[in-house]
Amino acid sequence: MARMIRQGVLDFIGCARPSIADPFLPRKIEEGRIEDIRECIGCNMCITGDMTMSISRCTQNPTFMEEWRKGWHPERMNEKGESQTVLVVGAGPAGLEATRALSLRGYDVTLAEATTTLGGRVARERLLPGLSAWGRVVDYRQYQISQRTNVETYFDSRLTAEDVLGFGFEHVAIATGSHWRRDGVARQHVVPMPIDPAMTVWTPDDVMAKVHPENLAGKTVVVYDDDHYYMGGVMAEVMAKAGANVILVTPSAYVSDWTRNTLEQGAIHVRLDDLGVDIRLNRGVTAIRAGEVETNCTYTGRKTAIGCDAVVMVASRLAEDALYNDLLARQADWADAGIRSVKIIGDASAPAPIAWATYAGHRYARELDTPDIGDALPFRREVTQLEPA
Ligand code: SF4
Repeated sequence: MARMIRQGVLDFIGCARPSIADPFLPRKIEEGRIEDIRECIGCNMCITGDMTMSISRCTQNPTFMEEWRKGWHPERMNEKGESQTVLVVGAGPAGLEATRALSLRGYDVTLAEATTTLGGRVARERLLPGLSAWGRVVDYRQYQISQRTNVETYFDSRLTAEDVLGFGFEHVAIATGSHWRRDGVARQHVVPMPIDPAMTVWTPDDVMAKVHPENLAGKTVVVYDDDHYYMGGVMAEVMAKAGANVILVTPSAYVSDWTRNTLEQGAIHVRLDDLGVDIRLNRGVTAIRAGEVETNCTYTGRKTAIGCDAVVMVASRLAEDALYNDLLARQADWADAGIRSVKIIGDASAPAPIAWATYAGHRYARELDTPDIGDALPFRREVTQLEPA
């Protein structure tokens, strides 16, 4: 952008989403602080607020929409409170943002990650087709944390409640993420559906871990999407690119229905059609048997079997909250261990889009050592009044 202006190609550049993700973008360019730019990832989560008549969020900038109501400045944190040490467990979007923001407030932060990489779900999802820009959620925070002397990061550190009690940190944030369900529970099914163990069923976590064969030529794979956001469409694309004959079954009337709110739905449908994916809308899956799935029409309930070799199950996600629950069960030991609070944040608390995880991490950092303001803070409205003449 700076080069285009300098070379006289353009007189000025208007940035919409990049300015939401980082309102200080022009100043950072001017000051040569390129690594400090919080780049927009193009997820369009900001637009969904308009589409759903709800509060907007930005995946990259958690202060978006809270500048006025909560007084959150996009670059400046509130002063540190009375305590000093925080353990953040899990280096996904929530844990990374909590760590970054807590360190800016001046806390000594220890970040414990169970794997050997930062990023949690984003570290995996950034490798999926079309989602590489989402890696900026990790890259920005990784760099910012690397510049802080009050953050220590430990990899390969899957912690138990006993470990946490033994460390003696004053506050503990549990940001251990979530995983995709294998049993089909989502919208159509509130209890697990019948699944014959003879059928191969992969979850998106399996596909991202590449447990499936690299070459699926000659195989038929049913992708059952009862999540309705982007993952079902992306899984169909991965399977098609691996050579499979892909049949996408969804109870919705649209492929990746919720992406109508991110203005991507039409493009996703065209992309899958171009890849030869057989799209079956308004159909659920009622049972998975050896060699076939049983589907039902969402209107008539009429059942049809589809023969296949494997199923990709895109249902709902389950919180990874075992460590939090173990710590809750040991609450009587907290005081002796020096622990003042344990809080669960992000997907570990309620699996949701990445924007909610970065928001949860930021909120945790902002509110540590401050009075509890609850979850129902009213909106503030500016009421203008005329001065009497
Ligand atoms: S929500 Fe996504 S698309 Fe919108 S400004 Fe933030 S990062 Fe960019």
